[in-house]
Amino acid sequence: RTRVLTGITTSGTPHLGNYVGAVRPAIAASRDPNVESYYFLADYHALIKVSDPARVQRSTLEIAATWLACGLDPASVWFYRQSDIPEIPELTWFLSCVAGKGILNRAHAYKASVDKNRAEALDDDAAITAGLFMYPVLMAADILLFNAHKVPVGRDQVQHIEMARDFGQRFNHLYGDHFTLPEAAIEEHVATLPGLDGRKMSKSYDNTIPLFAPREQLKKLIAGIVTDSRAPGEPKDADNSNVFQLYQAFASTEETAAMRQAYADGIGWGDAKQTLFERIDAEVAPLREKYEALMARPAEIEAILRDGAARLRARHATPLLARLREAVGLRDLS
Ligand code: ATP
Repeated sequence: RTRVLTGITTSGTPHLGNYVGAVRPAIAASRDPNVESYYFLADYHALIKVSDPARVQRSTLEIAATWLACGLDPASVWFYRQSDIPEIPELTWFLSCVAGKGILNRAHAYKASVDKNRAEALDDDAAITAGLFMYPVLMAADILLFNAHKVPVGRDQVQHIEMARDFGQRFNHLYGDHFTLPEAAIEEHVATLPGLDGRKMSKSYDNTIPLFAPREQLKKLIAGIVTDSRAPGEPKDADNSNVFQLYQAFASTEETAAMRQAYADGIGWGDAKQTLFERIDAEVAPLREKYEALMARPAEIEAILRDGAARLRARHATPLLARLREAVGLRDLS
């Protein structure tokens, strides 16, 4: 079976972008009997961006409840929290010792931070942590530990999968054939949703529409999406509209075509937003109910996560790390 791995960083409340870009397609894919799915809560990754412990904790619970509410079946997939698997940081160190620093210098997230510093006339590395710099190595460990074949990603993440291949290959070359080299499964048809301010919707930008915002709040947030100032009756440019992009991610092809026409015919922004709200709410409302019920039972979620990690460690992580420790010349811990 093809092993497919998906993670969400526990850096905030899950939003419509996480749902459309990760949760919905991953759950659909897990129904394929030829796929073995790995879903994890990337809480070590969260520490790179968030230093508020309460936020990380809350986010972990919210993201776990989101996966479960959206139909993840913990009995038929691997579902775990990254920090419950101590083999991940151990493997991160092994990979750090084969990863080229020059390769990490070229990582997009790091380069973007350097560019930002330069634009502000600061030192290149001002306020950049080693955690941010090393992030692709941690991600490589997430992937290589479970010998994932496919990692569904947006275009901006392809580079990180290539780095995981590179680090895995170097390790294999030095120590024997331990890792399957992963491939990026580029999600061409999965949209990147814009946030309230028009930038990519992202937990770190605080520009999100929470997936399970209560109905009234959902409506209010949608009413606040930035639009141009064209009046009702004036034709609108669907392709440059955030409201339209969000609608497209939730509507059928026919509904989308009809809405495109309505934009050309000059639908008012109020009406366009009302239709968008109704479309999203229709899909999300039944899931929201399950989510709220789950959030009221945090101990159950905790037990599911611990059980997933314990089984996964026993089955994959602990035996693999024992082999790797031997391969590199470290003491056998068993
Ligand atoms: P952070 O700001 O902490 O990186 P994020 O909200 O941008 O958080 P991640 O947790 O890094 O998202 O990503 C989890 C998954 O959600 C990934 O598969 C990512 O591609 C997807 N995703 C995130 N934001 C969007 C978006 N705006 N549109 C579509 N998919 C998205």
